[in-house]
Amino acid sequence: MTEAVRHVDIAILGAGPVGMALARALEGSGLDLLLIDRAPRGAWANDPRALAIAHGSRQLLERLGAWNVGDTTDIRSIHVSQQGGFGRTELAAGDYGLPALGYVLRYRDLAARLERETSTIPTLRPATVEHIDSDETCVRLRVSTDDGPANIVARLLVHAEGAPADGPDVHVRDYGQLAIVTEVRPASGHHFRAWERFTPDGPLALLPFGQDYAIVLTAPTATAQRLLQDDDASFLDALRERLGGRIDLVGCGRRAGFPLALRLRKQLAGPRQVWIGNTAQTLHPVTGQGFNLGLRDAWTLADTLWDARRQDPGEAKILARHARRRQPDRLIGAALTDGLVRLFSNDLMPLRTLRGLGLLALDLAPPLRAPLARQMIWGAR
Ligand SMILES: Cc1cc2nc3c(=O)[nH]c(=O)nc-3n(C[C@H](O)[C@H](O)[C@H](O)COP(=O)(O)OP(=O)(O)OC[C@H]3O[C@@H](n4cnc5c(N)ncnc54)[C@H](O)[C@@H]3O)c2cc1C
Repeated sequence: MTEAVRHVDIAILGAGPVGMALARALEGSGLDLLLIDRAPRGAWANDPRALAIAHGSRQLLERLGAWNVGDTTDIRSIHVSQQGGFGRTELAAGDYGLPALGYVLRYRDLAARLERETSTIPTLRPATVEHIDSDETCVRLRVSTDDGPANIVARLLVHAEGAPADGPDVHVRDYGQLAIVTEVRPASGHHFRAWERFTPDGPLALLPFGQDYAIVLTAPTATAQRLLQDDDASFLDALRERLGGRIDLVGCGRRAGFPLALRLRKQLAGPRQVWIGNTAQTLHPVTGQGFNLGLRDAWTLADTLWDARRQDPGEAKILARHARRRQPDRLIGAALTDGLVRLFSNDLMPLRTLRGLGLLALDLAPPLRAPLARQMIWGAR
């Protein structure tokens, strides 16, 4: 007996926040969609990550009807400094006529909200893709599910399955670092101020969240492993040392570690396939660019496909147009995060002085801060 074949216009591989945002943005376009994820529904329920969402991303999520995501906390200013060196600067929402530079929320709340908003879109999960091949007319996927194997034929396959594996199509820089995420309680409130502190071990971010700070502390893997195992008091001491006594911290939550690498796909489009979100670029979390970039990928692809909705969505010229539109923003995001990590992750005196002068210049000349703030709020447009 031959197995049934399911035909769709667009198969989206990966129903993470970016894949779901794309599906939501394409609803109503008349294109038949299918979301496929290897994990069961709600697999993200224990994800400990807090995300800093830029003001521009909030506007996109509002347009997708997916902004009300439970607890969110404004970031009204960001203080930037380096451990063991002079120089500091501060970005303030008011300088850009905005209520907030960004917002902090939980990855899992965002995923839950987007899952509700995409509940009417056909979804296969858990489903493992065993084989993909494509020709000029379509992409064929062979998938195994709890109900048995499935064959899918799509006019376009969108990859949104998160960080890509090593391979010749992906430029990889392993930072040899882990990001430790946790929540800590400041003794006297956070006043909606975030901190980006550059230390010789790696960047440390404190993001206001509820009454706490959501922490992203990056450190070389061996140091990070030790910090993950330390008791709360020793971990808080390590934070205080990195912060140079700027903030008094009184309590600490559960800690989790994420390995860090830059993974940059060289081509965004291939035969009837396109890559968005972390599978297109997985970045170091410094300055919180990853989801913001991925959301702009999803938005731009949806916009390109809406414009061409009477055409075949897998046509090479449509995919090339999307790739052209996304290239500057993602390359600037990758260069910014990678450049900051490399510039600040060492303790050489001349570099420390140069960095201090750079921070001082940013502080004294608001017009110098504006391009940085614009990239963080809206990306390269
Ligand atoms: C510690 C840390 C802090 C961060 N902080 C921020 C921040 O403050 N701001 C920000 O913007 N970004 C931040 N990021 C980045 C952000 O988490 C990612 O950019 C974002 O999650 C990317 O979403 P995505 O949907 O592309 O990928 P993912 O969130 O990885 O989702 C991928 C989905 O694909 C599924 N999948 C995987 N493989 C397959 C497969 N083979 N077949 C089918 N399905 C598959 C997975 O189950 C998952 O549902 C941070 C990242 C880390 C690690």
